[in-house]
Amino acid sequence: MAQTSARIGRERKTLEAMIRIFCRDRHGTTDGFCKDCERLLAYALKRLDKCPFGAEKPACADCPIHCYRPDMRERIRAVMRHAGPRMIWRHPVLAAFHLMDGRSKSTAGSSPKGGPANKP
Ligand SMILES: [Zn+2]
Repeated sequence: MAQTSARIGRERKTLEAMIRIFCRDRHGTTDGFCKDCERLLAYALKRLDKCPFGAEKPACADCPIHCYRPDMRERIRAVMRHAGPRMIWRHPVLAAFHLMDGRSKSTAGSSPKGGPANKP
């Protein structure tokens, strides 16, 4: 059980840190989150809580279930795209953890409407 909560706890921290960076840069929030981002974080944390994979959880981007609602998924992806590279400087450990987790997803290559945004 301790392992599960450690893993999930790390994910929670990652989510929070990423949304904080995104909110500050995009929404000019100086402290905490704006309403939208707060809702997004609450939603993301709830999904995490309910994640049936527990300790075996893959990166959310790579998850076969895709429990996020489509609109929330778009938003969390925007957050990750924006904050991901910046995380390396602010939260080296969390960032490394996140990059490692998400790496395998690019091999799938099936993005119905992603298009040019997916190109490196
Ligand atoms: Zn915001």
